[in-house]
Amino acid sequence: MSVTKSRLIQLPKAELHLHIEGTLEPELVFKLARRNGVELPYRDESDLSQQYAFENLQSFLNLYYECMAVLRTREDFADLARSYFAKAKEQGVRHVEMFFDPQAHVSRGVDFDEVVEGLHQAIGEAWTEHGISGGLILSFLRDEPLETAQDVWSKAKERPERFVAVGLDSAEVGFPPGPFAPIFAEARALGLRAVAHAGEEGPPSYINGALDALKVDRIDHGIRAMEDPELVRRLVRDAVPLTVCPLSNVRLGCVQDLADHGLLAMLDEGLIVTVNSDDPAYFGGYVGDNFVAVDSALGLDDATAAQLARNSIRAAFAPTDRKQALLELIDQWEGAA
Ligand SMILES: [Zn+2]
Repeated sequence: MSVTKSRLIQLPKAELHLHIEGTLEPELVFKLARRNGVELPYRDESDLSQQYAFENLQSFLNLYYECMAVLRTREDFADLARSYFAKAKEQGVRHVEMFFDPQAHVSRGVDFDEVVEGLHQAIGEAWTEHGISGGLILSFLRDEPLETAQDVWSKAKERPERFVAVGLDSAEVGFPPGPFAPIFAEARALGLRAVAHAGEEGPPSYINGALDALKVDRIDHGIRAMEDPELVRRLVRDAVPLTVCPLSNVRLGCVQDLADHGLLAMLDEGLIVTVNSDDPAYFGGYVGDNFVAVDSALGLDDATAAQLARNSIRAAFAPTDRKQALLELIDQWEGAA
C-alpha cells in the first residue's frame, strides 16, 4: 500500500452517511441465510456479487431490499453491525452515525425492538472493543406509504434515547419531503436531530424542501445543490453540512466518473462537505476507500483531507468533549506528515 493510501485510511474520521443494511457483504448474506433457512435466488457469493452493476438508484434498491430478507433476529442485526465495526476500525473511523430502515424489517414481520436492540448492543460493544463511538439514525423510507412510517415512529418515540436523529432515504424522485414534516417536528421536539437524503437524484428544490419542511441539521448527498447558486449560498450561510458519498454517486450513475465529481468544487464554494460510504458492501468501498478513490481521481493534499475529516467531526451529533478529542487526533495526523 502506498504511503498516501495508508495515511488516508488511517486519517481519523467520522462516518455520517452509512446504511447499516448496506454493509451486508455477500459472505454474511449466505451465512445468515443458512442460519435462518432463507432461500436465496443466487447460487453463491460470487453469483450474488455479479448482480452489483447498477443502472440507477432503483436498480440498487431492488437488490438491497432482497438481501435484507436474511436479517431476522436481534443477533443477526448485532452481527451485521459487529462486522461493519470491525471493518470501520481498519478504515480510520472513530465515530459512526448509522442509518437503519425499520420499515423494511417490520414489513417482513421482524419486531422493531429486535432490530433496535441488536444494533444498539453492537454500538455499545464498538465503544468498549474498538474505541469507536456511535449512534443510530432512524431512517424513514420515503417511497413507502406514510402510515408505515407513522407506525414505526409510534414505537420509536417511546424510547427516543435510543436514537440520535431521524432521517429520510430510499427512492428520491417523485417523493418530496413535505409529508414527513409532522413526524420530524415531533422528533425534534423530543430532542432528536434531523437529516434527510436530498439532491442525490432529485433536484435542488428537494434540498430546499428538506430544510424548510423538515428543518434538517444536515443534508445527505446534496450534490445537486451545485446547480442552484442561491441554494449554495443558503447552505454556506446556515452552515448545513453535506454527507457526500463519492463511490456511491459513481456506482448509481449520479456522476459519470469520479474525475468529474464536484466534491472539491463544493469545498471551494465554502460548503461543509464530508466523505462517506453510503452502502459500502454494494458500492466498492468503505469510507477510507472513498478517501483513497477521491485522491486518485481528484488529488487530495494533506490539508484538504484533514479538512474533510474535521468537517465530519464538526458535523457529528456527538458530545463536545468527544468531538474535541477527535479533532486533536486529526491535528496529530496532520503534524505527523
Ligand atoms: Zn444513503
